[in-house]
Amino acid sequence: MRIYNTKTLRLEEFKPLTPGEVKMYVCGPTVYNHAHVGNVRPVVVFDTLRRLFEALGYKVKYVSNYTDVDDKIINEAFKRHISEQELTDEMIAAFNEVRHLLNAKDLYKTPRVTETMDDIIEFIQELVMRGYAYEVDGDVFFRTNAIDDYGSLSSQNIEDLKVGARIEENSKKESPLDFVLWKKTDFGIKWSSCFSKGRPGWHTECVVMIHKELGNLIDIHGGGKDLRFPHHENERAQAKALYKTDLANYWMHSGMIDIEGVKMSKSLGNTIIAKDILAQVDPRVLRWFLLNTHYRSDLNISETMLQSAEKEYNKVANCLHQSLIKLALNNISGEELDIESYKRFIEAMSDDMNTPNAYAVIYDIVKNMNQLLRTKDLDMPSLLKYANTLLKALSILGIEYPPLSLSDEDRQLYNDWIRFKAEKDFAKADECRNLLIQRGIL
Ligand SMILES: [Zn+2]
Repeated sequence: MRIYNTKTLRLEEFKPLTPGEVKMYVCGPTVYNHAHVGNVRPVVVFDTLRRLFEALGYKVKYVSNYTDVDDKIINEAFKRHISEQELTDEMIAAFNEVRHLLNAKDLYKTPRVTETMDDIIEFIQELVMRGYAYEVDGDVFFRTNAIDDYGSLSSQNIEDLKVGARIEENSKKESPLDFVLWKKTDFGIKWSSCFSKGRPGWHTECVVMIHKELGNLIDIHGGGKDLRFPHHENERAQAKALYKTDLANYWMHSGMIDIEGVKMSKSLGNTIIAKDILAQVDPRVLRWFLLNTHYRSDLNISETMLQSAEKEYNKVANCLHQSLIKLALNNISGEELDIESYKRFIEAMSDDMNTPNAYAVIYDIVKNMNQLLRTKDLDMPSLLKYANTLLKALSILGIEYPPLSLSDEDRQLYNDWIRFKAEKDFAKADECRNLLIQRGIL
């Protein structure tokens, strides 16, 4: 398995910390509104990565948090005259509904910031005690000068960063790059600490949750590429300070979703909220669409592109469905795969999740299946192997099909349909066809 590591800007062979196990963490959503389609891309990308690792025989401990403390949450709750917790509970439920629709597997742990507060405060105290952070009037800042390679995760030059940071310089800070660990506040939800009544900074929350659920150093830390700086750089700086680690051996970042100039008004109500798209597009199609582009590339979303993804996906799904019916009608079953195709699929996926190449393998499998379906003397064992391989490949992409089983009545109906068609009794054939459609067989 090769992974492009943002930390080294290189493709690297994946070596787990513990043999056979993958510890991964992906920054979760700040739960103040409904998930945007851009928020669900990392959900699909990293769920697929997890499925791939599992297919390769790894046990995966995948953690993702909910940032349920934030100024945006406080402001939104205030506007809606509800408590912060009422708002975050509602948004976490909505987010999970979207995850569920997208067939993202359940996570090992899903910590909330509010439930990790004692550990967060303790962590900040420790940073202050060891000289990596300082308090000014109840606020606490991280001393970036104390980390010699600060900026290395995001491959940025310290001097350039300083120039950028000076624009919004806070006079309380020793250096413009220092970031807030604890913010004294008198508005909205707050916690008592030895510094002041206030709230923690976002960058600290993730480090503490990673430490609590997975340890000082994990295998993979993921997120959208917009998190690389400052969020991930600052997460790493804190881990470097207290744990003397890089926090993660591999840092993976997914590309952004570009919606600029896209007119979604016709079918999607001019919106990019994930649940609205999912109300109109089969979630399997959305997943297929999101994985069609390599995870590191930016992705353009448009109605036309979704439609063409749907067309491509339907070709695959129809071929699979036809094959499963043929196999069921002939009582052919078994687990055997077409080893050659499966190997090619896994090779593509193991090359930094090269989904475009993996899709090419899927199209080849479908081509072979369609050829088989067209032959008079159908080679059932080969069709079965291809169908099994396609099912397995799709399930690694998170697109799953329930097993197809036919009752005696279904079989009778299907055979009648074929017979009436052959006898050119189209009225009766149509009747059978409609019943088969109702039963989800056609
Ligand atoms: Zn984070």
